[in-house]
Amino acid sequence: MVEHVGVEVSAVCTALPPLRGTVEHQGSLADFIWFRTGGPAEWLVRPDDVQGLAAFLAALDPEVPVLPVGVGSNLIVRDGGVPGVVVRLPKAMAKVTIEPGIKEGSRRVRAGGAAMGITVASAARDAGIAGLEFLRGIPGTIGGAVRMNAGAYGRDTSNILIEVTLVTRNGTVETWPAAKLGYTYRHSELPAGAVVVEALFEGTPGDKAEIGAEMDRIAAEREASQPLRSRTGGSTFKNPDGGKAWALIDAAGCRGLRRGDAQVSEKHCNFLLNLGNASSADIEALGEEVRARVKAQSGVELEWEIQRVGMLADDGDK
Ligand SMILES: Cc1cc2nc3c(=O)[nH]c(=O)nc-3n(C[C@H](O)[C@H](O)[C@H](O)COP(=O)(O)OP(=O)(O)OC[C@H]3O[C@@H](n4cnc5c(N)ncnc54)[C@H](O)[C@@H]3O)c2cc1C
Repeated sequence: MVEHVGVEVSAVCTALPPLRGTVEHQGSLADFIWFRTGGPAEWLVRPDDVQGLAAFLAALDPEVPVLPVGVGSNLIVRDGGVPGVVVRLPKAMAKVTIEPGIKEGSRRVRAGGAAMGITVASAARDAGIAGLEFLRGIPGTIGGAVRMNAGAYGRDTSNILIEVTLVTRNGTVETWPAAKLGYTYRHSELPAGAVVVEALFEGTPGDKAEIGAEMDRIAAEREASQPLRSRTGGSTFKNPDGGKAWALIDAAGCRGLRRGDAQVSEKHCNFLLNLGNASSADIEALGEEVRARVKAQSGVELEWEIQRVGMLADDGDK
């Protein structure tokens, strides 16, 4: 099925190849990303299935940039919007299944790229698979976790990932062993424009009640320490070697710092907030101000963890 939303069908057909799924011209990203700010996608594309996505990307002009997004829990979309194609996976690609592992008695979790971390952690718990509990605290998709090497409490995605299936920018479907992703802290070598459509994880056999208790502990700890119900983008900066970004930000006097409706969270000062009407430019400029103050106070140059995508608005950095 081809469904075109909010655009003349002829305009889509001249610009983009056909897609099994939906295509929206100037599709809003601010409607769903966590900060609720930023401009639209030139083309917001929601494929129905992997093969449809692969055929679409194979036929798409190689000059057109492609950006996959999950739920935008680690994303600043700039106010001028994202040129080219933004791919958002459908619920149909959020399936989670359990299968046997290679070692006797071991089991694995296979998850679609659109599955949420909590769903995968819960499925692992129900199957008595330990080691995936940290995904309970990561409010993004598996595609985002694989790309970001998301992690918490001393574990990250690289510790549990066996292999990943992706659709490359030129439309081939490939399965890569985790080692090929070149993982380091909050970083992978996933090629630009490649869309993660499935991941295979492995843990160790565990007691369901103990796994559940650990997930509950993580949830409670998060509730106490993070602004979970705010418009935010998660950890703004990576922790520098041997240090904590939040402690440096605090020491530089930035807790609660404001720029318009953008604020450094009082609760966890490595989180930025949109208090209501912040623009993405406000949030990004506040982040840069924090970086400058931390550099001046401690000499440390913080590195952005949040992915910043798209273009500034025409009127420049407001
Ligand atoms: C309250 C809160 C708490 C958080 N806690 C943690 C934490 O403890 N640890 C941690 O690591 N992170 C944390 N985060 C950040 C965030 O949840 C993770 O980085 C998550 O993995 C991002 O997933 P997403 O689906 O939201 O990706 P997005 O934010 O939409 O995108 C992030 C990056 O992933 C890419 N991407 C997304 N989907 C795909 C895909 N299918 N294929 C290829 N690339 C893709 C995007 O292009 C972008 O580069 C937190 C965020 C919030 C808001």
